Amino acid sequence: MKRFPFLFLMVSGLTGIVRAPNGLAQTSRPAFEIPETRGMRWFKGNTHAHTLMSDGDSPPEEVARWYKAHGYNFLVLTDHNVFTDPRKLAHLTDSMFLLIPGEELTTSFEQRPVHVNGLNLPHVVEPRTDSTIVGTIQKNVDAIREVDGVPHINHPNFRWAFGKEVLAKIERDKLLEIFNGHPLVHNEGGGGSPGMEEIWDHLLSRGKRIYGIAVDDAHHFQQEFSAARSNPGRGWIAVKAESLETKALMRSLETGLFYASTGVELDDVVVTRATMEIRIRQRGDFKFRTRFIGTEGKVLHETTANPAVFRLASTRTMYVRAKVMDSGAAAAWVQPVFVTRERTAK
Ligand SMILES: [Zn+2]
Ligand SMILES: [Zn+2]
Repeated sequence: MKRFPFLFLMVSGLTGIVRAPNGLAQTSRPAFEIPETRGMRWFKGNTHAHTLMSDGDSPPEEVARWYKAHGYNFLVLTDHNVFTDPRKLAHLTDSMFLLIPGEELTTSFEQRPVHVNGLNLPHVVEPRTDSTIVGTIQKNVDAIREVDGVPHINHPNFRWAFGKEVLAKIERDKLLEIFNGHPLVHNEGGGGSPGMEEIWDHLLSRGKRIYGIAVDDAHHFQQEFSAARSNPGRGWIAVKAESLETKALMRSLETGLFYASTGVELDDVVVTRATMEIRIRQRGDFKFRTRFIGTEGKVLHETTANPAVFRLASTRTMYVRAKVMDSGAAAAWVQPVFVTRERTAK
């Protein structure tokens, strides 16, 4: 090995496979990228909600007040092709509640809806069209990037608009809705069409760095709340960030420092070189089951313990993510950590 140090570094750096000069692979175990989260705190938010400015049933002020009153730390008002300026609601914001400007870029390709949320936009961004479905999605992602916004691709299964093959071709997008609270979006898939989690694993297994987001897509804040209506409070994220500021939140979102939830709350997620540890917040007498999931959705480990702990080095996989399920059918999705390289076993 000493005679070929440069060759060794080059080969291992490019392929992640450690090879001796004789060409035989040596035993190795995976090393994961460890996020740096010292001094960070958790902030709860929703990145998808509508108001009377498009097809919601309540004025922006009332929508923002609902989230503030229910303990959210941030909210993005995302009306269809309308910029609902949060500066007009500045009187609602304080050290524990932030409004981030956004929009749901809303267009279609051959009757198939293409909806892409833009977070942290400076002004309205016109939706774009193209001659293919991939091009249509990509152009809207790019339109958001051009103004330094953060895109997230919305509800792919809404009217069965596009699937995993299309999503695998999209670039420069880091966030994908894996849960959307609107009653007509088919989060779970069915009838031969994959659900959002299966689509997510498909993308991750092809080397895409994509994080799963849960949102309300709330429209209805008036009258009764029921499963058939598009009410708030169903899907949200908790972001680990240095402060409750837009830039810090966007940075954490795009590096996967958050979990998505439909009701399960976590006290912390601690990833070290050796383990992924999930500290679940106890709620009443609810019971919990945690799955650690790897390449192609394979369940690597399942436990009912709290904290739920997985030894990262114990398996060969491209990534490890986790899903915590409670006894009331709510879940939390912990974002994947990725294998960066393989190191030779000593
Ligand atoms: Zn939509
Ligand atoms: Zn929407």
